[in-house]
Amino acid sequence: MDKIQMKTPLVEMDGDEMTRIIWKMIKDILLVPYIDLKTEYYDLGLEYRNETNDQVTVDSAEATKKYGVAVKCATITPNAARMTEYNLKEMWKSPNGTIRAILDGTVFRTPIIVKGITPYIPTWTKPITIARHAYGDVYKNTEMQVPEGSKCELVCTDKEGNEVRQLIHDFNSTAGVIQGMHNTDKSIASFARSCFNYALSIAQDVWFASKDTISKKYDHRFKDIFAEIYEAEYKEKFDAAGIEYFYTLIDDAVARVVRSEGGYIWACKNYDGDVMSDMVATAYGSLAMMTSVLVSPDGVYEYEAAHGTVQRHYYKHLKGEATSTNSVATLFAWTGALKKRGELDETPELVDFAEKLEAATIKTIEDGVMTGDLYLLSKLENKKKVGTEEFLIEVNNRLAQML
Ligand code: NAP
Ligand code: MG
Repeated sequence: MDKIQMKTPLVEMDGDEMTRIIWKMIKDILLVPYIDLKTEYYDLGLEYRNETNDQVTVDSAEATKKYGVAVKCATITPNAARMTEYNLKEMWKSPNGTIRAILDGTVFRTPIIVKGITPYIPTWTKPITIARHAYGDVYKNTEMQVPEGSKCELVCTDKEGNEVRQLIHDFNSTAGVIQGMHNTDKSIASFARSCFNYALSIAQDVWFASKDTISKKYDHRFKDIFAEIYEAEYKEKFDAAGIEYFYTLIDDAVARVVRSEGGYIWACKNYDGDVMSDMVATAYGSLAMMTSVLVSPDGVYEYEAAHGTVQRHYYKHLKGEATSTNSVATLFAWTGALKKRGELDETPELVDFAEKLEAATIKTIEDGVMTGDLYLLSKLENKKKVGTEEFLIEVNNRLAQML
């Protein structure tokens, strides 16, 4: 069989620990035998980040801007323990944070659904994708504890030096707390465009919610910016794609989400996204089955698994013990990137291959063959637990039959 050709390389960001082991297995077993795999390789493993003073992370993000599609392995975000373990020159920042800052993107997280693993909300038969606005609000706030007798005001000084003052609260009979926070029109607009672009790329509706009835300036600004951008730039495209943009109040959204069957993108303000993404991930069953894609407002895509480097499994692996680590989210990061590359390059063979690889993966689990984490959750009767590599070989057996 001739290998599938690629026109443009993918940006490949290698990573750390168990996911680095899985990364190589996926390439060796499931990709290289079928695709003439073209990638521009960046080693984001902690050792090489340290060696390059983290320049490699910046370079990989710049390459992603250039080529448009990247696939990333999970990476260690250093803490004090890692400083000693890897003898680091500095406590390097989270690579995801660095990449996100350069691409100015929004992260979309989607669960992979398989038969046998029922969400805690059984009506959720399709995935709910959460898009979290990862800038500002309470995450960049200023706050104070104030003593009794304080008078607290919000003061804004404009370019000409004019002051506007508004009373927050007169603490005349008790002490208390205050908080100041912000967001920017630019960041909100980027968030809106990333959501609308991604919705078009996967042909799903966008839901967005805030508390604009109570927060008549702050939350209302989010609602207005979304509406303006939608009307001016996306409405026609959404109509043509048969999808919708839907705005409601956050409490109404929560009630509707619980009653829904899934199958849409839920755009969340920063705090809502923080809380709801954990709720949705847990309700679908497993972090190891959650994919993640960073989408920039100008349409650059970076795919990864939502989980980390699975450190505990890696130490077992180093001791030569057998592991049963779930590779599905990392595998779907690759298929997501290959599909997007194929779409942009107009190479349908590549898209078709990636879709078949996803189908073979799901079929493997639905046939009852799965790693330990899913074995604990699955309600299938004929289930069997397999090791990390064995799972990928089982996927390959099914893939070979589909091609
Ligand atoms: P983690 O790697 O996500 O793992 C937490 C636990 O979840 C694991 O110990 C394992 O449970 C289970 N798990 C996660 N993924 C799994 C998989 N694919 N298959 C089977 N079980 C899985 O999080 P962590 O241990 O908190 O963090 C480890 C490192 O990852 C840290 O250095 C952190 O900085 C980094 N991290 C990176 C990213 C990223 O690059 N996007 C995200 C998060 C964390 P059991 O051990 O009970 O089996
Ligand atoms: Mg959270």
